[in-house]
Amino acid sequence: MDHFPVFMAVAGRRIVLSGGGEAALAKLRLILKTTAHVTVVAADPAAEICRWAAERRLRLISRAMEPGDAMCAVLFYAANEDAREDARVAALAHRDGARVNIVDNLADSQFITPAIVDRDPVVVAIGTEGAAPVLARRIKRDLEERLPASLGLLARIGKTFRAAADVLPMGVKRRDFWGAFYDKIGPQSVEYGGESAVLPALEALLDDTLHAADKKGHVDLVGAGPGDPDLLTLKARKALDVADVVIHDRLVSREILDLARREAVMIDAGKEGFGTSMAQDDIDDLIVAHARRGAHVVRLKAGDPTVFGRLDEEIDALDAAGISWRIVPGITAASAAVASIGQSLTKSGRNSSVRFMTGHDTKGFADHDWKMLARPGEVAAIYMGKRAARFIQGRLLMHGADPATPVTVIENASRPDQRVLATTLAQLEPTLTEAGLTGPALTFLGLAPRDAVTASHDMNIEEFA
Ligand code: SAH
Repeated sequence: MDHFPVFMAVAGRRIVLSGGGEAALAKLRLILKTTAHVTVVAADPAAEICRWAAERRLRLISRAMEPGDAMCAVLFYAANEDAREDARVAALAHRDGARVNIVDNLADSQFITPAIVDRDPVVVAIGTEGAAPVLARRIKRDLEERLPASLGLLARIGKTFRAAADVLPMGVKRRDFWGAFYDKIGPQSVEYGGESAVLPALEALLDDTLHAADKKGHVDLVGAGPGDPDLLTLKARKALDVADVVIHDRLVSREILDLARREAVMIDAGKEGFGTSMAQDDIDDLIVAHARRGAHVVRLKAGDPTVFGRLDEEIDALDAAGISWRIVPGITAASAAVASIGQSLTKSGRNSSVRFMTGHDTKGFADHDWKMLARPGEVAAIYMGKRAARFIQGRLLMHGADPATPVTVIENASRPDQRVLATTLAQLEPTLTEAGLTGPALTFLGLAPRDAVTASHDMNIEEFA
């Protein structure tokens, strides 16, 4: 490192610049961000410099530099874009005792000016010792995007609150407090309430942190929808934005998990290795344990949490532990699947009720009112119906259902790899087995894809008559 970065105290002190052209303007735009007294010495100053002088943002001496012009200056810039004139004024400034920078002349400069990302009082200086100005600009652009515009404001307000926050014990607790402020509470309060909301938010956060020991967490039981992130509700997105812990099902898509807060702990409760999936009791315990530690837990379930979601077991466990919860509904697989085939779940004159049924439950293939389901015009959405297909087909035919009843199976509804099998009750098996579906699939009894949808070429519909 040939240059050591420091931040020079310039408030109320002099910075002098010699030059009136483009190079001078570029430097002045940076220097004028400071609270220094700026003087420009230029025989032929650009109009912008004259305007700044008229606005009293700098003092302008409209002639060539003379001895004494840089007297008492902490920094001096030679920016004449003329090597001889720059050498002359640099020598004068040296004699006046200032530290000298000659623009575009690294060798003869006593200091260099870095690229700056300004979120005053947070200032990032980027230097490459003249080696790679392009790289410096790229890093600057990167940081400009990454650091929220409100950062400076937050740092200023944070500074006024430092003494108040000293009531927190030094170490993790205090660090976590400031971390929560800069990462989450601060930016959020500016976004939703403007500058005046920041201080009250800080006070509330301090209060929360002080009482964290007796603070209980909260659990949002959130529907993630069928897989397409655009089918997530705004409420679900907001919950993911603030989650400390996300406990999700195997079926929740990667694109949706990617929306969770960067710092959130992600737990896959459908992971192989706990058997085919984690036992429900273990999931209940896991949710409660995280909430007890004060975390904001998002329990993220595919589709709608209230449809074949084992929701009640989890709510019972939360109630038993005295932990607050709320349900955030989602789009269930049946809604997404029926939309994809251009049909309605109910239709006047055809069916005035629709059944959501499961192919199997915890005890095996699920029993249903087959006689009722076998009637013409009935519509049922069958969840988890792949393995039970032959059983369902057999029961319905046995109870007098028309073998020509349309049956449609939608795999990966709303996802890019969606597949639709259009068949009949008579053909359901072996069609389903032969198709070899691997993703989640929803089976509609009594619905076929609408003709217009079948005719469309972007749809992946396979017909089995
Ligand atoms: N709570 C979920 C259902 C959970 S049960 C919901 O409301 O959708 C799991 C079953 O849902 C799967 O076996 C499958 O039948 C269905 N399913 C979930 N996502 C699906 C999708 N994207 N496409 C088709 N079926 C889906």
